Amino acid sequence: MADETPINGAPKINGPRINGDAYPFVDHQYDVVVVGAGGAGLRATFGMAEKGLRTACISKVYPTRSHTVAAQGGISASLGNMGPDDWRWHMYDTIKGSDWLGDQDAIEYMVREAVPAIIELEHYGVPFSRTEEGKIYQRPFGGMTTEFGKGIAQRTCAAADRTGHAILHTLYQQALRHHAEFFVEYFAIDLIMDESGACVGVVAWNLDDGTIHRFHAKLVVLATGGYGRVYFSCTSAHTCTGDGNAMALRAGLPLQDMEFIQFHPTGIYGAGCLITEGVRGEGGYLTNSAGERFMERYAPSAKDLASRDVVSRSMTIEIREGRGVGEHKDHIHLHIEHLDPTIIHERLPGIAETARIFAGVDVTREPIPVLPTCHYNMGGVPTNYRGEALTKLGDDPDSVVPGLMAIGEAACVSVHGANRLGSNSLLDLVVFGRAAAIRAAEILAKGEKHRPMPKDGGQYALDRFDKLRHAKGDIPTAKLRLDMQKTMQNDCAVFRTGETLKAGVAKMREIFSQRDRVKVEDRSLIWNSDLMETLELDNLMVQSVVSIESAANRQESRGAHAREDFPDRDDKTWMKHTVTWMDDHGKTRIDYRPVHLQPLSNDVQSFPPKARVY
Ligand SMILES: Cc1cc2nc3c(=O)[nH]c(=O)nc-3n(C[C@H](O)[C@H](O)[C@H](O)COP(=O)(O)OP(=O)(O)OC[C@H]3O[C@@H](n4cnc5c(N)ncnc54)[C@H](O)[C@@H]3O)c2cc1C
Repeated sequence: MADETPINGAPKINGPRINGDAYPFVDHQYDVVVVGAGGAGLRATFGMAEKGLRTACISKVYPTRSHTVAAQGGISASLGNMGPDDWRWHMYDTIKGSDWLGDQDAIEYMVREAVPAIIELEHYGVPFSRTEEGKIYQRPFGGMTTEFGKGIAQRTCAAADRTGHAILHTLYQQALRHHAEFFVEYFAIDLIMDESGACVGVVAWNLDDGTIHRFHAKLVVLATGGYGRVYFSCTSAHTCTGDGNAMALRAGLPLQDMEFIQFHPTGIYGAGCLITEGVRGEGGYLTNSAGERFMERYAPSAKDLASRDVVSRSMTIEIREGRGVGEHKDHIHLHIEHLDPTIIHERLPGIAETARIFAGVDVTREPIPVLPTCHYNMGGVPTNYRGEALTKLGDDPDSVVPGLMAIGEAACVSVHGANRLGSNSLLDLVVFGRAAAIRAAEILAKGEKHRPMPKDGGQYALDRFDKLRHAKGDIPTAKLRLDMQKTMQNDCAVFRTGETLKAGVAKMREIFSQRDRVKVEDRSLIWNSDLMETLELDNLMVQSVVSIESAANRQESRGAHAREDFPDRDDKTWMKHTVTWMDDHGKTRIDYRPVHLQPLSNDVQSFPPKARVY
């Protein structure tokens, strides 16, 4: 693996001085720079390298430590290995799950590409679990049905309960095989934009030796993952701070549908760690304090396998109405003690371990205490199904931002709309990671040259970096972060009302205004985790404000956005994507993009009339 290998001779060192400190740039030039080495970033990285593009991949953590490694349950595709299946059924489920906010061209692309994408992963070496006949094992997952909602589909391909681990390691091996160049433990600070609004590169800080690197690229791909850490209780890694989303905002670009945040029904009470939906796919069920399987009341046919928003809301109602379990009646029980221990051992070994460590529970004997926990961000950088970043310019809602792409959880394609179905995210990563590589090769095949680096290219990133490095305020980063997380947890949660959102917006604004009072004690440049956490907090803050303001603005209930004061979906007014910008002073502006209701092909015409979704 080449690290920091200059392509055009020795790296050039130049750059300005700020506050008497030198920040010489180490300059690099590539065709493509991918920021992020999770499932999406790695799939794009080796896809680009495979097509002969000089590709660099920057990651703030070692690639196989990216959050994708934690994905448990599986990846969806209508292979039909364990019963009848059809991509049209998968498409219908995804559109319905998205509560009609998903873009149907992108959804059709994803579910059709799913089948070859899984076979491709198998050939790359992903060790999927197997059926007796040696086919890829598939389990049921919430919202995945056959015959347009009639039966339960077994569509989610799994490698035990460690599917993300298996996929991420395989993708990393493929990236090394194709000689992509990695810049590991480099923290991307900001994009470099030129005057025309095109992206020409990115500035990153090498955590290990303190040097600052300026990457000049024909294309930058944001694959920086979600921003779950805006919440106090979440299933995502501490690194999930949505840095790429914040970079896009600072570059003058909008974020889309940020009010739609998925709560997973089964985070371990207290710790937040995930207990996969695969547990309910294998026969697990939820009970309240009366021992009742209450999901039978809320979703008589899908029961415990109803979609995540439905299960999370049902659990919250049970707790609110006094039927929660435990001393404070503030959580719910998840049972798998009735399952055959061999099944638990073979298909859910990681869960048994997590429950033992984080809840002190032996899953073969007692239920797991669980609570809805922030799990996934449907919103992000708006893109088309080729991975190109979009903005709204004048009357054109689908205006492509030259030089910039976004994929994975950082992007809003939007295939998940208002609510993602379980196992559709891993699919989104590999399908659109691959699509981005295909599109990049198309664009760059036309002999596209590097756009010139602006004279002050990178200065904006350095100014911000230096300001935070020397922040001398009176509020420690950890205190501001906690205030933000508690506010989001209380006021932008599973259920929302105009009143709590209004109070939440005011509180978030107050916390946001304290950004200038943040205190960084460590001024060094080498492995300065104090500074890195402050840069991450700065990124989280802008996304918190955008999310809660977008939530306050949307006066309807749709998917994961449940307003008690507007309990119904209002397609007449609100079947549209929210796009929100934020200026350098933190002022936001909200506008809308239409939902793409037109699928890619006419093949969808074979949907039965009642199931027609457009
Ligand atoms: C516990 C858990 C279980 C899940 N289970 C499933 C499942 O079973 N099925 C499913 O479909 N989905 C699942 N999901 C969702 C899915 O795993 C994620 O949406 C997906 O893995 C996100 O992948 P990504 O490539 O977009 O980002 P990530 O995997 O989060 O990777 C982000 C990358 O960006 C890099 N990065 C970020 N900021 C910077 C920066 N400033 N500078 C440099 N690099 C940066 C990081 O180093 C990292 O490499 C699960 C999620 C969680 C949290």
